[in-house]
Amino acid sequence: MAKNEIVTIENIIEKASDYLAEGDIEFIRHAYNFAKDAHKEQYRKSGEPYINHPVQVANILVDLQMDPVTIAGGFLHDVVEDTDVTLDDLREAFNEEVAMVVDGVTKLGKIKYKSKEALQAENHRKMFVAMAKDIRVILIKLADRLHNMRTLKHLPTEKQRRISNETLEIFAPIAHRLGISTIKWELEDTALRYLNPKQYYRIVQLMKQKRAERESYIEEVIEEVRSQLKTVHIEAEMSGRPKHLYSIYRKMVKQNKQFNEIYDLLAVRIIVDSIKDCYAVLGIIHTCWKPMPGRFKDYIAMPKPNLYQSLHTTVIGPKGDPLEVQIRTKEMHEIAEYGIAAHWAYKEGKQVSKNEKSFEEKLSWFREILEWQNETKDAEEFIESLKVDFFSDMVYVFTPKGDVIELPSGSIPIDFAYRIHTEIGNQTIGAKVNGKMEPLDYKLKNGDIVDVMTSKHSYGPSQDWLNITQTTQAKNKIRQFFKKQRREENILKGKELVYKEIRALNLQPKDVLTHENINRVNEKFNFTSEDDMYAAVGYQGITAALIATRLTDNIRKTQEKEKDLEETIEEVVKSDTSKSKLGKKDSGVQVAGVDNLLVRLSKCCNPVPGDKIVGYITKGRGVSVHRADCPNAQTEEAKERYIDVAWKQHHLPQRQFHVDLEITGYDRRGLLNEVLQSVNEMKTNITHVNGRSDRNKMATIQITILINNIAHLHKVVDRIKQIKDIYTVTRTIQ
Ligand code: MN
Repeated sequence: MAKNEIVTIENIIEKASDYLAEGDIEFIRHAYNFAKDAHKEQYRKSGEPYINHPVQVANILVDLQMDPVTIAGGFLHDVVEDTDVTLDDLREAFNEEVAMVVDGVTKLGKIKYKSKEALQAENHRKMFVAMAKDIRVILIKLADRLHNMRTLKHLPTEKQRRISNETLEIFAPIAHRLGISTIKWELEDTALRYLNPKQYYRIVQLMKQKRAERESYIEEVIEEVRSQLKTVHIEAEMSGRPKHLYSIYRKMVKQNKQFNEIYDLLAVRIIVDSIKDCYAVLGIIHTCWKPMPGRFKDYIAMPKPNLYQSLHTTVIGPKGDPLEVQIRTKEMHEIAEYGIAAHWAYKEGKQVSKNEKSFEEKLSWFREILEWQNETKDAEEFIESLKVDFFSDMVYVFTPKGDVIELPSGSIPIDFAYRIHTEIGNQTIGAKVNGKMEPLDYKLKNGDIVDVMTSKHSYGPSQDWLNITQTTQAKNKIRQFFKKQRREENILKGKELVYKEIRALNLQPKDVLTHENINRVNEKFNFTSEDDMYAAVGYQGITAALIATRLTDNIRKTQEKEKDLEETIEEVVKSDTSKSKLGKKDSGVQVAGVDNLLVRLSKCCNPVPGDKIVGYITKGRGVSVHRADCPNAQTEEAKERYIDVAWKQHHLPQRQFHVDLEITGYDRRGLLNEVLQSVNEMKTNITHVNGRSDRNKMATIQITILINNIAHLHKVVDRIKQIKDIYTVTRTIQ
C-alpha cells in the first residue's frame, strides 16, 4: 500500500483479479461505474473529482484482499450521504448486502465525536463497533479514514487537528484491536504530523541521519544469520524492522527517553515457511548471540488478542548492542500486518469459495475468534480483549451534550433517564430521540441522541415501568420509589391508628407525643424516627394498641400514683382521727394543708428543729420527714410523694431529738472519756455509745445524743471539736 500513488480503476481490477472470480470483477466494476455516475460534478477540497476518493478507499480494501461486497461498499460508501442515491437504489442495482454495508458506513459517519476523556473515547469506540454490526463496515470506514488522513493537508488547520485527534482516539485503536497494523501505524503517524508537526519532523530528521549507519549494521546481521540458515537449509526473508514515528514519539514522551535510546535498539524480522522453522531459527539466533534474559516471548504458543503471532527475542548483537529479533511464518506476518482482514481475506477469498458463507456464519466465526482470544493468559491483554466487546449486547446512545451512555440492548428512554440521575428517572414524562418525540417504551438504537423530558409535577413512575425497563439500575430505582411512596402512605395510616388508640385511653395525643415518650418507644422497638414508628404501624408490623400503650406508660403510672396518693392521704387522715392519742406525741413538724396527719421523723437522718427538711407520704405510715440532704428522701418514689413540711414555731419544750454523731481522732488513752465528759458538761444526754480503733491508731466514736434544736447541736459539736487529738465530728445518716 504505497501512500501517494494515484490508483486507477484499472489498477484495482488488476489487483482484484489475483484473488476474485470474473463475475466478482464485473460486480466491483459495476460499483465503480455507479459511484462515478452518482458523484459526477462533485469535487473534493483538493479540487480533484470526488470519485478519486472512493477509488482510493476501494484500493485500500483490495490490498486487504476483501470480498466483492466490501470493495463495492468502498466505491459506494459516500453515495447515500452525499448524492441523491437511496438505499433502495442500491438494493435494486446491487443487492441487500451492499445496501446494508453502505447504510452501516453512512450511519457511522453521523456519529459526532467528542474528545473529552479516556472513558468517553472507549465508549465511542464501543459504539462505533456496535453500530457497525458487520466487520466489513468497520473495514470500509477505516479505509475511508485512512484516505482522508492522507489528504488532510487540504483542510483548514483546525479541522486537521480535530480529525487527527479523532483518528488517534477512535480509529487507530480500532485498527489495532483488529490487528491491522499497517493501517494503525499510518493513521497514527499521519495524525502526529498534524497534531505535533515540530516533533514529527524532528523525528523524521533524526531517522534520516541515522539511516545509513543503521542499515549497514542490519545488513551485517542479516548476512550472518543467512549463512547460518544455509547450513540447516532454511529459507527466510529478512529485513530490518521499520520503526514507526508515532511509537518512537510515544516512547520519547511517555517514557521520557532520548531519541537515541529508542532508535538504537536495532531490530530484525525473519519470515520463514513453517512454525517448525520459526523455532529452528530461534535456536540458531540464540547460539550465535547471547540472549538477554526475560526478553523471549512466544506469541506463537500464546497469540495476542488481536491475533498477532510471532516469536520475539532480544540478543546481544555483534557490536555488543541489544538486537531485537522477530521470527514468524508468512501467514503470521500477514496477520501481523492486516489482522482480522487477513483472516477474512484468507478464509473467504482463497480457501473457501467466495460468498459462500452467510453473514451469520461469518459472525459466528468472528465470535469464535474472540472466544479463543479470551483464553490467552496474559492478564492485561485479556482485559483489553474483553474491552473490545464486539457485537456485544449493548447499545450506545448520546446525551444531548454528546456524552456516550452504554446500556443493555433493548433499553428504553426510561433506562437512559435513570442512568443519568434518579430524580430525572422519577420525573420522566417523555423523550425526544433524535429530536423527535418517541413513546417511553421506544427501543434505543446505537447513536440515538436521547433527550429526556421531565416535570416536577410528575407523580413518578408507574408500575408498568418495572416491566418495560431493561436495566437493573432503573428497576431498582423504580422499586425504591414505590417503597418510599408506600412508606409515606403507611406513615399517614399508622399515625391515624396510633392517635385513635391514645384517645381510647382517655388521653390527648399532644400530651402523649412528647420527645421523651417517643424516644423511649423508638429505643424499645428500634425505630429510627417518629415516622418510622408510624410506618411500622401502617404496614401492620406492629399494632397501634401496643404503641399507644408504650407511649402512655409513664403518664398512666403517674396517674395511678396520684390516685394512690389521694387514697393514702384519705387513709392516714382517717386513721389519725381515729387514734387521737397519737396526737400527744408531737413531731414538731407542720404538714402543709393537712391537719392531724401522722408524722414520723425518720431514723436514718434524725432531723432536728432548724434542719432543712422534706417530707413525703408513705403508704400506711403517715408522713416521713427527712433532712433535705438525706439520700433516702431523694428517691424517685419519695419525690413523687413529696408534701410540704415545716418545723412548727412553737413545739413542746420537753420534746428532744436523737442525733447520731461520728467522731474520729488519735487513739490515746482517755480520749473516749474526755468526749463523754464534754457532752455531759453540756447537759446533753447520751443514749448510745460505740467506740473502736484501727491499726493506724485511728479512733472512731459513734454516739447518739438527745438534742433540743439545731443551735443546741452546734454547741455540743463545737465543744467536742475543742478536745485535743479530735480530727473530725460528723452528723451521720444511716
Ligand atoms: Mn469517504
